[in-house]
Amino acid sequence: MSKTFNIKCPSCGVSQDVELHEAVNVVSQPELKQELLENRLNRVECADCESNFRVDMPLLYSDPAHNVLIHWIPETNTLDKEQIIEDFDQSLEQINAMVPPDIEVPNVRLVLTRVELVELIFMIEAEMNVRVVEYVKYSIYTRNVEKILPAKFRLLLNVQDSTDEELCFVIQGVEDHKLGRELRYGRAAYQSMCELYEETPEEFIEMFPGPCISARNLLMEEEVEG
Ligand SMILES: [Zn+2]
Repeated sequence: MSKTFNIKCPSCGVSQDVELHEAVNVVSQPELKQELLENRLNRVECADCESNFRVDMPLLYSDPAHNVLIHWIPETNTLDKEQIIEDFDQSLEQINAMVPPDIEVPNVRLVLTRVELVELIFMIEAEMNVRVVEYVKYSIYTRNVEKILPAKFRLLLNVQDSTDEELCFVIQGVEDHKLGRELRYGRAAYQSMCELYEETPEEFIEMFPGPCISARNLLMEEEVEG
């Protein structure tokens, strides 16, 4: 299902009506998921100047088999990260308060960029423990305080390039989106942390309550609070 939006071309400024998607359901529209993964979803070719651009707007990604709903809410000039997370927390609390206790609610996640959405989709499909992965990232950041600044660099898990022995993380510049150095992390260490999670999930949940589970955000909050 798509809807018509009037969008202004960022290159030439001409407005045009285009069809865009606000939701992706992996069961009913697997082709949209593929478009999203290949960075083709909600792309527009300007009818006037032919420049090709992506329109970022809130997108709901649902994967019923894994019982997960991911909201991608991009930052805009008028809406920054803190505001998005705060607004989202509030509406989620309201929804949870309305749901009867015997209904199983889906896991709701919030991401702010397409790369984080794609990363999360791969993690969910590989049935990885997202909180443990973020905990690993947290320890990589804190061990490289001088080199990997959370304000400047994102750490992304590359599920496809990870092996049975090692998890593969890649550093991405927040401003220029450039992919940099790769970092390897032993899968055995990750596995033993997953076992720890099974025994005492509380500590991980307290650290990353959600819906935005992100080591980078946590570190940046800690920085602000001193
Ligand atoms: Zn144009």
